[in-house]
Amino acid sequence: MKEALFYKKSDDKNVDCFLCNHFCNIKNGQVGICGARLNKDGALYSLNYAQLVAFNIDPIEKKPLFHFFPGTTAYSIASIGCNFKCGFCQNWQISQAQEAKELQMKTVSVSAKDLVRQAKSRQCQSISYTYTEPTIYFEFAYDCAVLAKDKGVYNNFVTNGYISKDALKSISPYLDAANVDLKSFREEFYHKICKAKLKPVLETITLMKELGIWVELTTLVIPGQNDSDSELFAIAAFIAALDKNIPWHISCFHPSYKFDHRIATALSVLEKAYLIGKEKGLKYVYLGNVHTDYGENTYCPSCSGMVIERMSFSIKQNHIEGGKCGHCGEAIAGMFSV
Ligand code: SF4
Repeated sequence: MKEALFYKKSDDKNVDCFLCNHFCNIKNGQVGICGARLNKDGALYSLNYAQLVAFNIDPIEKKPLFHFFPGTTAYSIASIGCNFKCGFCQNWQISQAQEAKELQMKTVSVSAKDLVRQAKSRQCQSISYTYTEPTIYFEFAYDCAVLAKDKGVYNNFVTNGYISKDALKSISPYLDAANVDLKSFREEFYHKICKAKLKPVLETITLMKELGIWVELTTLVIPGQNDSDSELFAIAAFIAALDKNIPWHISCFHPSYKFDHRIATALSVLEKAYLIGKEKGLKYVYLGNVHTDYGENTYCPSCSGMVIERMSFSIKQNHIEGGKCGHCGEAIAGMFSV
């Protein structure tokens, strides 16, 4: 256990955690909503500091981050727990602390220094804090991110965007990129399905842009939940108003966890969402978890030439030169190797 950041003592050995937007008030002997922070005698502790449940070398495209050093690999890690309770979670065995406990998921202890050393020795250009919500092991992610940056390794979060403003600002000098889930544009969806709120997620996305973090967004389109024209238009309009260069990944839902009796998203619905994104002026729209001839490729917003051809997370062709379209010279938004 490590003493947590971002909390203050209130009364009677209670503490207020302000790491994420739940702002839990935690009584002595209890944990917060995420199940990863314990109040012990009036001090808050991170229960999962340096306790990892996953280590993988993934293509950066798998996060998905399509405009962040394409073709490189990310040393991808996770710890147990999450501050959301999404019934459709694909990684519920590790994201839900109670389920992980019942399944007796094993964790491995590793220091921040060793983790960065492993990432470097395995030629990973970045560390990806992914699979579960990185905010809930913030103290470890922060220590790794600071060391990684010093060693020339980039950092990216795959996140639900529920981190508090204070915590985001503190890690922002070391956080190069993030893929944020924008799961819906309705408070009711966030409230009922994720047990959270939409507004803080929108504020996080906006703040990330202001802080200079490279941002891509993902929406998992679930039949009957967030696939109406009006909702998809609302999501696309929000992104377009913020920055038309933000890539929008529209992802196919497959039955999972408490949503295992639902049907998968029809390709026609994903294609409709793709066209809505384009109609709103988004320059980079992608389809994920489904195979199409075009949905994973990057096209130049100026000449429409294909600049990156992808297939199942691998790069088949890359015509971006120095961050510009190799056909017409138009700048392609993102971070690219020179
Ligand atoms: S990080 Fe955990 S304990 Fe802290 S506010 Fe969020 S859910 Fe609550």
